Amino acid sequence: MPARLLDGKALAETMQAEAAAGAAKLFQDRGIRPGLAAILVGDNPASQIYVRNKCLACEKAGFASFKIERPASTTQAELLELIGHLNDRPDVHGILVQLPLPRQIDEHAILRAVSPRKDVDGFTPENVGLLATGEPRFLPCTPAGIHQLLLRNHIPIEGQHVVVLGRSNIVGKPMALILMRKARGCNATVTVCHSQSRDLPGIARLADILIVAIGQARFLKADMVKPGAVVIDVGMNRLPSGKLCGDVDFDAVREVASAITPVPGGVGPMTITMLLHNTLQAALASG
Ligand code: NDP
Repeated sequence: MPARLLDGKALAETMQAEAAAGAAKLFQDRGIRPGLAAILVGDNPASQIYVRNKCLACEKAGFASFKIERPASTTQAELLELIGHLNDRPDVHGILVQLPLPRQIDEHAILRAVSPRKDVDGFTPENVGLLATGEPRFLPCTPAGIHQLLLRNHIPIEGQHVVVLGRSNIVGKPMALILMRKARGCNATVTVCHSQSRDLPGIARLADILIVAIGQARFLKADMVKPGAVVIDVGMNRLPSGKLCGDVDFDAVREVASAITPVPGGVGPMTITMLLHNTLQAALASG
């Protein structure tokens, strides 16, 4: 029997409505409207679409959104000054810097400059450290969205063996940290693989839950999946035809797995949703 589809689009709608209700209540109780500032430097077409979608989702949920565009020639000093200004603005509760940044700008220096209390992407060293030590403030949006997809679809996590393919700071590493937390709904046994891992297919086949975030179209084949495993496809790869494609060979893996996320309509919509929840959380903690 083909795997059950884990519908990220439908869950995102439900959870965005929850964020909208939270925002309405905050406004009613304390007159505060959650506000997100999204900084876009340069003219990367994919980044423009991501920022537009994030701002649209904010507006739909009744949040304020401030889209701040700067040319590709922007200097690091200019960007640091802008972030300093946003850190001080009381109507801005969350700040996101859309990556990648132009070459002349040190990404780490920029992310370090965002106030940790407004770092709704969860990328500052302080927030990464809080997650690593088990008392997170903001969870990075993509892995947090995957965690919600698992929880709200009643997929057992505690004591399960999760294999994460990919160790980036944005997806793989925080995903592992979230699922290994000593907390309810976490407590997984986690293995992380990367480009230097020996026998990746053999390790992948051990997984009860397999999370694939490597950025290679249709990398994960059916013979790398234990029958009945849950497969989460984080990949967003553009094929020469222009079609969007995940890191999983979907049609074949669907015959082996018990549950699987589609691309599009799986992890992607959850990322924006968690950004709204983090911004609401920042606004609730403000003032
Ligand atoms: P990165 O390129 O930053 O990291 C990729 C990781 O995969 C690295 O750890 C790399 O290993 C590993 N890797 C690459 N090739 C192989 C291979 N052949 N075998 C084993 N490991 C490999 O990517 P991201 O984590 O940022 O993104 C991963 C994918 O997820 C991309 O397709 C991206 O577009 C998508 N994405 C989707 C999001 C969403 O909202 N749906 C959000 C963010 C990302 P090493 O460290 O050794 O180089």
